[in-house]
Amino acid sequence: AEMEEKGWLGADLVFDIDADHIPTSCGKVHDVWVCVDCGFSGRGVTPEKCPACGGERFKVKTWPCEVCLDSAKTETVKLLDMLMQDFGFSKSEVHVFFSGHRGYHVQVESEVVRTLDAFARKEIVDYVCGLGIDVTFHGFDKRSWEAGYHESSLYSNTGWRGRILRGLHNFIVRVDEDKLYSLGLRKNVVRKILENKKVILQNLNSPRFLRSVKGVGSESWRKILEYCAKLQSAKIDTVVTTDIHRLIRLVNTLHGKTGFKKVEFPVSTIESFDPFKEAVAFKKGTATVFVSDAPKFRIGDEEFGPYKNSKVELPTAAAVLLICKGRGELVE
Ligand SMILES: [Zn+2]
Ligand SMILES: [Zn+2]
Repeated sequence: AEMEEKGWLGADLVFDIDADHIPTSCGKVHDVWVCVDCGFSGRGVTPEKCPACGGERFKVKTWPCEVCLDSAKTETVKLLDMLMQDFGFSKSEVHVFFSGHRGYHVQVESEVVRTLDAFARKEIVDYVCGLGIDVTFHGFDKRSWEAGYHESSLYSNTGWRGRILRGLHNFIVRVDEDKLYSLGLRKNVVRKILENKKVILQNLNSPRFLRSVKGVGSESWRKILEYCAKLQSAKIDTVVTTDIHRLIRLVNTLHGKTGFKKVEFPVSTIESFDPFKEAVAFKKGTATVFVSDAPKFRIGDEEFGPYKNSKVELPTAAAVLLICKGRGELVE
């Protein structure tokens, strides 16, 4: 039936943060892709075209790795901060879950979001992703600074201006030569910034910082600030949020790709939340599995693998994970 005839009443505002959408330091080497057309396979991020035959269809075996899940958590923390600080949702309206697989779900349950259409949700997505942010419209240009446009408490500014500035602080503290060059800055500018880190940091919270280092002009700052905005954005799966007809996994159900549960936890405990402990469903018994290929992994306090074509007896949760991920088969 047409959707209208089904009597759509509303939808919670839902965010999906999945490691698939986040570049990670593990390089996803635990993921295996196979070309559907020719069978050519490789590890890491799936290519757009098969290097052997040019085909574009792949079968992908992913893995819920700790590095990937940590990076998904970092994105989730940024998202939660925006929802509560910038949008003003309360802790009782914002729910956060481990998805049971490779990421986190955030669900806003509130009357004010329930009837938002796809376009309105897209606006929220754009805000969260920092899409189309022009830093000069946030007061980071010469004229605004000269006009004394800025109040003194920029850091605590809610919204993107404060976010960009806090991002700039973290950026300057850690930045090295390679990173600055990668932003397309000239040699002189790179040297000046590295020499004057302290001066920049001291001036960040006042209208002086754009002119704090001679030789670093507004165009260079724009490049840096745009990069900082990107760092501060939350990398969500945008399609999930805008789709108002989608069903999302119910809490405490098993995820078919892992055998882990989708679990809710308090927003305030996200830093210490351990999915490999709290989402474990099968806590008793063992099973013998023939493992074709699996990276090293952890469940609870116990580490397993890596395995390659070996028969092993494992705690049920580990065995179920390998079987669900297509990395092993149960041995009768
Ligand atoms: Zn191929
Ligand atoms: Zn990973």
